[in-house]
Amino acid sequence: MILVLVGPPGAGKGTQAKLLCARFNIPQISTGDMLREAKRAGTLEKRYLDIMDSGGLLPDEAVISLIDRRTAEPDCASGFLLDGFPRTVPQAEALDQLLARGGKRIDAVLQLDVPRPLLEERLIHRRTDKRSGQIYHLVYNPPPPGAELEHRADDRPEAVARRLDAYEAMTAALLPFYEEKKLLHRVDGVGKPEEVTQRVLSVVSRPGSGGE
Ligand code: AMP
Repeated sequence: MILVLVGPPGAGKGTQAKLLCARFNIPQISTGDMLREAKRAGTLEKRYLDIMDSGGLLPDEAVISLIDRRTAEPDCASGFLLDGFPRTVPQAEALDQLLARGGKRIDAVLQLDVPRPLLEERLIHRRTDKRSGQIYHLVYNPPPPGAELEHRADDRPEAVARRLDAYEAMTAALLPFYEEKKLLHRVDGVGKPEEVTQRVLSVVSRPGSGGE
C-alpha cells in the first residue's frame, strides 16, 4: 500500500498519517519530520535551515534524495505513506521513477481540503510538547499544565503566510498531475480528526483505489 497525503500546512496531514499508518501497518515518511530531525541533530546544512525557518521550500534534489534513501529501507518493503512529499511536479515525477525502478506504484493520493482562514488559525495557535511530540491548539485543544511547549519557527504568522502561498503556488500544479492519472481523491479536512479519518478510510477502502 503506497499512499500519498497532500494538503496545505495545518490541514491535519500529520494526524491522519499516524492513524492510517497504524491501520495499514506501514511506516509514515514525512520529509518535514526528517528535516526537523536533521535540524535537531545539527546535520542539516545551514542554507537549508534558513529556507526551512523562513517557510520556503527546499530544492527538489535535496528532498528527493532523502526519499530515495528512506524508501529503500526494509520497513518500506510492503508499502508506506508519504506526508509532505511530493510538493512539486518534479518531485512527483522523481517519485514515479524511483517507484518504477522497484516495480511499484502509488495506490492513492489523498488531498485534505481545508479553507485558508481555518489553516491560518490552526497553525498560528499550534504548539508541540517537546517531550511527547503531542500537538495542541492553544484555544481548542489546550495543553495540560507543565507541558514543555515549542512553537515551530515556521508556525509564526509571517512564515505561515509564506508557507500557504508556497503551497498554493507550487502544489496546485500537483493536483492536476495526479488527477490525470486518476489517483487523486479529495477529502473534506474540516471536522474532528476521527471524522476526517472515516472519510479517508472510505476512500482507500473502495475497490479500485488500492484499498482492502
Ligand atoms: P512540513 O512539516 O511538511 O510543513 O515541512 C516543514 C518544512 O520542511 C517546509 O516548510 C519546507 O521548508 C521543508 N520541506 C518539507 N518537505 C518538503 C518538500 N517535499 N519539498 C521541499 N521542502 C520541503
